[in-house]
Amino acid sequence: MADVIALFNAGSSSLKHALYDRDGAALGSGVIEGTAEPGAQADAAAEVLGELQSEGVVATGHRVVHGGDLSAHSLIGPETEAALERASVLAPLHNPPALAVIRRVREELGTGVPAVAALDTAFFASIPENARHYPIPRDLAEKHGIRRYGFHGLAHESMLRHTAEVLEKPAETVNAITLQLGNGCSAALIKHGQAVDMSMGMTPLEGLMMGTRSGSVDPALVAILADGEGLDADEVVAILNSRSGLLGVSGLSADMREIEDAAASGDRPAALALEMFVYRVRLQIGSFLAAAGEEIHAIVFGGGIGENSDAVRAAVVSGLAHLGVGSAISVLAAPVDEMAVMARVVKDLAGTA
Ligand code: ADP
Repeated sequence: MADVIALFNAGSSSLKHALYDRDGAALGSGVIEGTAEPGAQADAAAEVLGELQSEGVVATGHRVVHGGDLSAHSLIGPETEAALERASVLAPLHNPPALAVIRRVREELGTGVPAVAALDTAFFASIPENARHYPIPRDLAEKHGIRRYGFHGLAHESMLRHTAEVLEKPAETVNAITLQLGNGCSAALIKHGQAVDMSMGMTPLEGLMMGTRSGSVDPALVAILADGEGLDADEVVAILNSRSGLLGVSGLSADMREIEDAAASGDRPAALALEMFVYRVRLQIGSFLAAAGEEIHAIVFGGGIGENSDAVRAAVVSGLAHLGVGSAISVLAAPVDEMAVMARVVKDLAGTA
């Protein structure tokens, strides 16, 4: 009977899972699709545990999109669970399924098996106050807990580790701009191995243009569209989340491969969507290069688009040679492995090594 660490990543419509041994070596992984309801995610997790048969699970890890008040990856006890519950209002599609999985796994394995919450927000706890706050009245910000959290932390941490390996530098000496370009897109500014800013804010809607999300827009658009279309604010935000970005501009698809193909065959709206996507990534890189105030070692591309699209990478860095991009600043495509980061977090916190 082997000792294993079981990892769960409950998404909005699928449950990804993976097994690692005590030394952090990957043993296998899988994904169960079509689990839109938290209850279905919990059932899927129970099914995964059921299939392990003779393997002994010594710890579990759970990806949690929004850690709320928690500033670090945490062993799950009543207090952690209450904090994740409070954060559910901030991530209504993601935290409830993760909590459902956490509870079901505990029912199946008992409380003797440590469970760890690996937070997508934890990597950004180091963001300093000047980047953490919005310039709105401070009393309102405090009353409603409004601040920038940042997301995709496990992905950015994975890119940091990859960069440290490639550059043969200790992670805590790496200065990098990491770009997670998938369906969701975000950029992080990392100095001395710590995040000092990131493009997403209070929610994962801020920042770069994405597959279906607008990213940053003039906030007055919410009122203008609400008035113009007879909608309430939530409905406008839903449009910015699910009908905008590549999909909204192209009128065709949220999928970058389809956008690239359509643009190449002369579809103007698709070409515009691609140009806007690239332009906004370049603006973010420029902002971070200036904000860094010191030498950046690498610009790192990850995610389905970042890792695979040579055309997007080339367009993003073209004409930046005068800033040292390509010479002093390495341009890397990184395989993003969130599960590997989770396995390490679980090993550290659950003491399974
Ligand atoms: P998620 O953010 O949901 O994890 P991914 O990281 O898998 O998603 O990224 C999905 C995006 O990556 C899609 O827009 C897809 O078109 C794009 N993508 C994947 N492979 C390629 C490729 N070879 N060229 C361009 N885009 C690609």
